[in-house]
Amino acid sequence: MTNTPTENRLEINGIVQGVGFRPFIYQLANHHGLKGEVANTATGVSLILEGLQNDIRQFIDDIPYDRPKTSMRHFGMCPLCQAEYDDPDNRRFHAQPNACPVCGPRVTLCDAGGKPVDTVDSIADAANRLRQGRIVAIKGLGGFHLAVDATNAGAVARLRRRKHREEKPLAFMCADLNHIRAIARVGETEARLLVSIQCPIVLLEKRPHTPVAEPVSPRNRYFGIMLPYAPLHHPSVRCWASTPFTWPTRASCWPLCRRIRPTRC
Ligand SMILES: [Zn+2]
Repeated sequence: MTNTPTENRLEINGIVQGVGFRPFIYQLANHHGLKGEVANTATGVSLILEGLQNDIRQFIDDIPYDRPKTSMRHFGMCPLCQAEYDDPDNRRFHAQPNACPVCGPRVTLCDAGGKPVDTVDSIADAANRLRQGRIVAIKGLGGFHLAVDATNAGAVARLRRRKHREEKPLAFMCADLNHIRAIARVGETEARLLVSIQCPIVLLEKRPHTPVAEPVSPRNRYFGIMLPYAPLHHPSVRCWASTPFTWPTRASCWPLCRRIRPTRC
């Protein structure tokens, strides 16, 4: 391929709106020295890219799909996944995102200095740290969430200090609807919203005497609660079991970073 200046148009479909995708695309384009435009459309996001062909190719390679960097690149499945993929009788026949713990995404827990922690189960280890009142930055599909134990008033207060967020309510995540019902009043409409594919944060009236710490939503009748919406959330909330995570609301979550710099929490 010749490396000449060119202009390309890309249409990206799927869940790419409301997840910090355009800021991510902007950062990625800057990183590759590309110029252009990015806009929401009825079906997704539309891109115009100007730059050298090689840079545009590299940019496309770096757009995440269901896991980092597998969208346009060659993705080698392990023999077991490949057998499922090739078998017309298998429900994963030609399922492009087919993967397992052997050939699929890996989860790494890093310490405050950005150094990988030596652990057999990163998710369980992170859950333990949350139980100890620590703050854990969780890198998801749309950006970072800062998580603490929502029942630990001291941990929530520390998160507020670090985020310079004194009063504004924090949203939190619960494992399932029953868990939410124990904490807040859930009508039919709210339940439908909570389990919808968008998994939005829903404002719900607090029940009295909940285990959720006061600083999560101080002097407010409502909680902002959501259900797990990304693959990493499900094993995380299972590990966390009976108590909810607290996250700063999505609006304030950090855009996705290509490189993880040490995050001191
Ligand atoms: Zn596999």
